Amino acid sequence: MVRCLLGAVCLMLTLLMQSAYGAGTTDTWYYLQDRGLSVTEVATSELEWQRSLWQAPNLGFTQHAYWFRYAIPSVTVQDGSWYLWLHNAILTEVDVWVQRNQMPPVKVQPAAMRMPAYPLRLESGSDYVLYLRIQSNTALQLPAELVTETELLTLKEEQDSLFGLFVGILFSMMLYNLVLYVSVRDKSFLLYVGHACALLFFVFSWQGLGSRYLWPHWPAFQNMSVALSTFSVIGFSTWFCGVFLSINQHNFKGTRVFWLVRNLGFMGLLVTPFMPYSWAIFSSSFLSFFAVLMVISAMVARVSLRHRPSRLFVMGWTMYVIGALVMGLNKFGLIEVTPTSENLILWGAVFDMVLLCIALGDKFHDERNLKIRAQEMAIKAVRREKNAKEMAISKQQQAQRALQEAADAQDQYARLLERRVRERTLELKRTQQNLEHVSELDALTKLKNRRYLVDRLQQELKACKDKGCSFAIVMVDIDHFKQVNDSHGHLAGDECIRSVGRLMQDRLRNGVDIVCRYGGEEFVLILPDTREAEAMVKAENIRSYIAQTPILCEHQRIMVTISVGVMVVDPDAVPARSEEVIQQADQALYQAKHQGRNCVCLA
Ligand code: GH3
Ligand code: MG
Ligand code: MG
Repeated sequence: MVRCLLGAVCLMLTLLMQSAYGAGTTDTWYYLQDRGLSVTEVATSELEWQRSLWQAPNLGFTQHAYWFRYAIPSVTVQDGSWYLWLHNAILTEVDVWVQRNQMPPVKVQPAAMRMPAYPLRLESGSDYVLYLRIQSNTALQLPAELVTETELLTLKEEQDSLFGLFVGILFSMMLYNLVLYVSVRDKSFLLYVGHACALLFFVFSWQGLGSRYLWPHWPAFQNMSVALSTFSVIGFSTWFCGVFLSINQHNFKGTRVFWLVRNLGFMGLLVTPFMPYSWAIFSSSFLSFFAVLMVISAMVARVSLRHRPSRLFVMGWTMYVIGALVMGLNKFGLIEVTPTSENLILWGAVFDMVLLCIALGDKFHDERNLKIRAQEMAIKAVRREKNAKEMAISKQQQAQRALQEAADAQDQYARLLERRVRERTLELKRTQQNLEHVSELDALTKLKNRRYLVDRLQQELKACKDKGCSFAIVMVDIDHFKQVNDSHGHLAGDECIRSVGRLMQDRLRNGVDIVCRYGGEEFVLILPDTREAEAMVKAENIRSYIAQTPILCEHQRIMVTISVGVMVVDPDAVPARSEEVIQQADQALYQAKHQGRNCVCLA
C-alpha cells in the first residue's frame, strides 16, 4: 500500500512538472527599482534595466516598488483581444501601461474578474511594450502570461477545477475526521481537523487563494493572514504531531520545548493583529523553523519505520515539508516561479492530509486492537484468578471435610475406646465380684466360709447395735464324724459334710438365714432378726431333721446326728468383737457335746 501511495505521489509530481510561466515565447522581462519616476520617464529615459533570470521575475520579499518591462515584437503580434494574466493575486499595488510603436504609454485597467487580468487590444504590424509598476508587501513575483480570451477562460477553468479539487479533498478529509471524532471521541481526530484547517488557511494565504476567492474585498487582511496562518499551522501541526507520536508517554527529551513551540504558535496567533506586518512575518518564519525541527526530532525519537501508521506519518510530513520548502524558496525569490513550485505545497498538503488520515485510522485501529487484547488478557487473568480461588476454596472444603472425617473417626474411636473401657471395667468388676464371691465361699460345700462369717458377724453386730434388733448364732458339729471317715472313707466323709450343709439350708429362711462352714465338720448358722425362742425352735428343728434324714454317701445311706450351741445377741448387750460371739456359741456347743451329743444348748 505504501508503494502504491509512493507511486501516486511520483505521478502527481510528474504531472505538476509543467513548463514555466511566460508572457510570450522568446521575450523576457526586464526590471528596475523605482526611484519616483513617471511612466513616461521610464519609457523614454535610458535606464539600467536588468534582465530577469527567469521567465517569471521573482524578487522575493522587498519593500521597494519595481518597474517591469516586457516587449512584444510586431512579428509575434496577432490581431485580437489579449489579456496579460498575472498568476500572483496578492500583489499589493499593480499598475499596467501599454506602449504602442513608441507612442506615450496608456494605462490599462484590470478586467472585472476575480483574477488579476489586464485586457490588451493588439494589432498586427505594431510593436508593443508593457510597463508594470508593482509594490508588494508579499513576495514580489510576476508569473504572468499573455493569453487570448479563450485561453484565459480555459486556464481559469483549469485553475478553478484544480483548486476545487484541492479544497474538496481537504474538506472531505476534515469532515470525515470530524464525524470520526464525534462518533469515537478520540482527541487525535479533532486535532487532525484543526491541523487540516490551519493547513488550508496557510495554503490559502500564502498562495493568494484567500484574497482571490475568500477575502478579495479585505486586502489588508491578506498581509495579516500570511502570519496568522503560519502561526496556526505551527500551533495545530505540532499539537497533532505531539499527540499522534504520544511524546508525553514516551520520555521524549524535548517534550517541554515541543509544547513550548506549540504554545508560542498559538500566542503568535493572538498577537499578530497587534504587530507590524514585518515582525509578524519574521517571528512566524523563525518559529516555523523551530517547529519543523521539533517535529523532525520527535519523529526521529519516536517513529519506528516497521510500524505502518508511523511510516505513513513520516511520508505525509515529508511531502508537506518538501512542498513548504519549495514554496519558501519560491517566495524568497531563490527559485523560479513555475506552476510546479507554486502548486507543490497544495499537493504536499493534500498528500499530507490523506496519508495522515490513513495513519490516524491505522493508529486508532492498532490502539483499539491493543485495548481489546489488553481487555481480553485482563478477562483471562480475572478468569484464572477466579479459577484459582475456586480451586483454593474446593481444596479448603476438601481439607475441612478431611478434618471433619478425622474428627469423626477420632470421636468414633474415642467412643469405641470408652465402650471398651466400660466393658473392661465391667468385666473387671465382675471378675472382682467373682473373686470376692469365690473368696467368701468354701471350696468343698460351696457354702459361705469362715472369712465371710467373721465379716458378716461384724455387720450383724453393728446392725444389732444401730437398729436395736437381736440376732442368733448357731454352732453345729457333726457327732463322731471321725468314725464316718474311718468307716466309709474320706470321700464319703466329704459327701456327708456337703449333705449336712444342704439339709440345714433347706430348713432355714431362704435369702435371710446363712449357713457357713466354720471348718472340718463344723458349721455356724447366722439367723438375723431372731429372738431366743425362735432361735431355739429353729436349732431344734434342724437337729431333729438331720437326725431323721439318712444321707447318701458313696451309694450307702448313713445316719448322722449333730450337736448344736445357740448364742443369741441382745441389743442391750452387744459384744464388741465377733470372736466373743463365736466363743460363746462354741461353749454352748461344747456343753451340748458334754450332755451326750445330738442336742441343743443355749449359751
Ligand atoms: P465328737 O463327737 O467328739 O465330735 O467326735 P468326732 O470324731 O466327730 O471328733 P474329732 O474331732 O475327734 O474328729 C473329727 C474328725 O473329722 C477328724 C478328721 O479326720 C475329720 N475331718 C475333719 N475335716 C474333714 C474333712 O474335711 N473331710 C473328712 N472326710 N473328714 C474330716
Ligand atoms: Mg469337731
Ligand atoms: Mg464331730
